[in-house]
Parts: sequence; structure tokens; C-alpha cells
Amino acid sequence: MQNDPNAPRYSRQVLFPPIGEAGQRRLLESTVVLVGCGALGASLGEQMARAGVGRLRLIDRDVVEESNLGRQALYTAQDAADHLPKAAALAGHLEEFNPDITVEPRVSDLNASTIRDLLDGADLVLDGCDNFDTRYLLNDWCVSSGRPWVYGACVASRGLTAVIVPGQTPCLRCLFPEPPPAGAAETCDTSGIIAPAATVVAALQAAEAIKILTGNLEAVRPTLFSIELWPFRIFEFGGKDPSPRADCTCCGKREFVWLDTTDRARVLTYCGRDAVQVVPASRGRAFDLDAVERRLAPSFAVRRNAYVLKVEVPDHTLTVFDDGRALISGTGDADRARALYDQYVGS
Ligand SMILES: [Zn+2]
Repeated sequence: MQNDPNAPRYSRQVLFPPIGEAGQRRLLESTVVLVGCGALGASLGEQMARAGVGRLRLIDRDVVEESNLGRQALYTAQDAADHLPKAAALAGHLEEFNPDITVEPRVSDLNASTIRDLLDGADLVLDGCDNFDTRYLLNDWCVSSGRPWVYGACVASRGLTAVIVPGQTPCLRCLFPEPPPAGAAETCDTSGIIAPAATVVAALQAAEAIKILTGNLEAVRPTLFSIELWPFRIFEFGGKDPSPRADCTCCGKREFVWLDTTDRARVLTYCGRDAVQVVPASRGRAFDLDAVERRLAPSFAVRRNAYVLKVEVPDHTLTVFDDGRALISGTGDADRARALYDQYVGS
């Protein structure tokens, strides 16, 4: 039965005194938005669905690839062979083991123009994303609307996480006033990653999320926390009870520069991956993926499902989504990617 806190699947969690039946009921009435369905996101999605979060929205712009299967929970070789979008594939797997909750996959790019729609109604936001632009945008939205979020990042054998409860704990810009310069941060595509690093960070994030959602705020770990698995070390920053910074641009002065910028770059380069995402300037205008398929199919190898078209052109693969975005692989150059987009997809 939907929304039944006494369902057998939740019985062991309900036995845990800080949660109990009242906490389980709160989980079932909650809406959690998961931003990014990669290694962190897939694991977070699994834990939130098993915990019984009543409404779970999954946002991701990418498709499942074979190189994801070494660490990204739940995805299958068939998902990769079918080029399924991660949000749709993950939603399908979550429904297989918890059909009683509502799962909303959104195959979309989260940016300043889409964030209000994508995060609408969120009681809590979980960060499973892979770039700082998105995290600073999330921080702006969460602080401006007073919603908690849980930051998470992992690379190689280590990870970092922080709980941000607006007005009570430091926000991301209290901790790091500006993001690192583009290309300066290590990524899983350049430094690699072992699966346990992602799993442990996702577990730490999920535990804090469950505390917040069940009303156990006093148990929340308010500091920035870093864990290194190889060799094992943990670090905690910010003392026992850190406060938001009064001079913080975001939560102190309430200037939401990431949220208020509507003309962010339309081309996003994936560091170290030899692929570039192109977001057409005409967002919001209808995009006809069928027409693109009809145009390209006579001349090129085209594979297609309901969400995505993949076409092999000389030296490049274009993965075109039904909202008009495209991933251009085989180049790291933004101008070249834009040119290929215009050449094959059209704008
Ligand atoms: Zn702040």
C-alpha cells in the first residue's frame, strides 16, 4: 500500500528509535530531488528509495555508458547497450524494488533557466553532480528558498561532504567563497576513482538526509567532512558548531549571483573527457528529434530510443537529447563542438 509507514519493507528502520513510525511517516511525505545520477546519485537514489522517501525526483542529462558500470550502482549492461538516459534507467530500477513511492525522472540539464522548475517542491536536495557551476547554483537556490541540501564529491580514493541548512550551518560560499578555476579540480576522468569512495560518501550524505527529513536536526553533523580511504584518514573542518559567515555573499548578504545569471555559457566542456555539451540558445522552443533522425539516417549510422539519438559522423559521435542538447565526443574544443552541432543537428 502506498504511504504506509507500517509496511514490512520499513519495519527495521521504524524499529530504530530516532525514526520510529512518526519519522517514517515524515519520510513518506517528503520530496527529495537528486541532482546528478552518476556514482553518488545512483547510490543516493537507491538509499532514498529503500528508506521510503515518498517522492523522488531524479535529474540527469547524460546516458548510461559501459565505463559507468564499474562503480555506478544499479545500472546494467543492457542500460548501456540501450543508451538509456541515467535518470530514466535509475527510475526504472528504483521502481523494481519500491513500487510504492513516486519516482520522477527528468532528463534535463540543470542550469539557471531550468532550476526553478526542476527543484520546485523539494524539501531537500542531494548533490550527486560532477561540477562546481551546478553546486554554486544549487547553493543559491537552496539558500534563497530556505531548503537544506547535502553536498557530496568524490574522486580517486577520497570524498568530501557537507550538510547545508540555510540560516543554521555555513553555506557552500561560507566554506568556499568562489569555485576553483575551471579545469583546476581533479575529476574521475583524469584521476580515476574506486567504487567504495563513491559508496561511502553517498552513505554519509544519505544518513544526514534521513536525519533532516525525520526532524532529527540536532543529530546533523554540521561540519565539512573529508574521508580518505587509501590509506584511511578522516578530517573534519570548522569546529563543533560552526556558524554561517555574516559577510557571506550568499547567505549573509543574500546576493544570488549564480541564480540570477541567465546568460551562462551555452557550451559546457567536460574536463578531460574529450567531449563537449552544447545547449542550444533556443531553450524552451520545441525541438523535433524525429526530424533530426529523418535528416541524418540516410547518410549516417543512427541509433535511437525515446529520449536520445546517437549518430556517428566522421571522427565524432553526437548524442542528441529530445530537448535539443547534444554531447559531442571526439573534441574538447567548444567552438568545434558548436560548429559540429550546427552542421549536423542545426540550430
Ligand atoms: Zn554562506
